Amino acid sequence: MNQETSSAPATTGIFILIDALGWSYLKDSSFLAELLPYRTSVQTILGFSSGAIPVLLSGRPPKDSGHWNLFYYDPKNSPFRWIRWVSFLPKSLLNHRIVRRGVREVTHLLNKFGGYFQIYGVPVELLPYFDICEKKDIYRPGGLPGSLFDRLEQSKARYRTYSYHEFSDRQIFDQAASDLKARKFDFYFLYLAEFDAFLHDRCKFEGEVQEKIRQYDKWIRELYAQASATNGPIDLFVFSDHGMTPKRGGYDLLAEIRPLGLKMPTDYIAIYDSTMARFWFFNERARSRILGKLGALDCGRVLTVDEIKKFGLDFSDNRFGDSIFLMNPGTLIEPSFMGTLGPEGMHGFDPERDPHSSAVFLTNRAPERPVRTLTDVNAIMQRWIDGLRAGASGAERQNSRIAVSQ
Ligand SMILES: [Zn+2]
Repeated sequence: MNQETSSAPATTGIFILIDALGWSYLKDSSFLAELLPYRTSVQTILGFSSGAIPVLLSGRPPKDSGHWNLFYYDPKNSPFRWIRWVSFLPKSLLNHRIVRRGVREVTHLLNKFGGYFQIYGVPVELLPYFDICEKKDIYRPGGLPGSLFDRLEQSKARYRTYSYHEFSDRQIFDQAASDLKARKFDFYFLYLAEFDAFLHDRCKFEGEVQEKIRQYDKWIRELYAQASATNGPIDLFVFSDHGMTPKRGGYDLLAEIRPLGLKMPTDYIAIYDSTMARFWFFNERARSRILGKLGALDCGRVLTVDEIKKFGLDFSDNRFGDSIFLMNPGTLIEPSFMGTLGPEGMHGFDPERDPHSSAVFLTNRAPERPVRTLTDVNAIMQRWIDGLRAGASGAERQNSRIAVSQ
């Protein structure tokens, strides 16, 4: 069986997703320059990794995959429903650091989540109104509708994914190198999450950023060299989900909304992410007061219906918000539910207006089609998998002919 499977495809594919590797940090650098001559910037989607990576993996916009920002309004199915039993407790106690940790752990235990799960600074009394979109590990089959891992599974391809669920970035390279050496798989998907955390803190320090990029350059070159020596031709793809925008300033949006005399959760609920605030209105008074206030601010804007549609966020049930207020590139909501003080770099601004938002796509194999969006990157991967399937079935046909003639 091993002989059959290892002799089928002629080429091995290594797909490396580096979180937050922005085109603005790469365009003048020699990062993997001669190794990956086909290189381009890629427009990301509006949102965070929780929305962008599902587009890379499925090719579907958020409204079709159901994956966008982590929290969406769904009181009936909320994994935090149990909190209602303790909601008589004062807010100050509910939001005590130790209680918050307990809330996270109990919810995790009750629901057996396998995906990315944090409650950040969302007030505990609001959690029972929300569900989270990443309940499963999206780097595995069944984790996401239309995922390329489902396609790999169906095609019975030999593949492996590596992510922070099991390893650090360095360990991912080590593990992949050892699997390549043993020629275990045909499709390798490496998700490297640590560059994002680094850039959130250090994106303003050009020297440090380039040093970090050189580190990945070295690791990828080593992996490629070793893979080529043992596996023959390698198709190598390096790409990202979004960039990182240096922070210009913060804006206290809550201080604008608080004096309007409205109450959460009776009049409205707001989720304050770091670059956008999402509002659900429960009466007209709340809707008109909040939208009136937001319309007068110049730190950002309320997305129009057309923009919501363009960004693939036109969910029929407004689960991600009746209205979304998006901050101008570089300006963070401070404080937000993501923290009192925002990081030095952030992503999740308007992908059409923010030059730092663009992702990257680099490869050593001339792409069959132009690559401009995350959906295009997905199409390249899906095509590669289809090629693997075609190659494998070709080899099977050949084997069966031999079997017949013998
Ligand atoms: Zn990030």
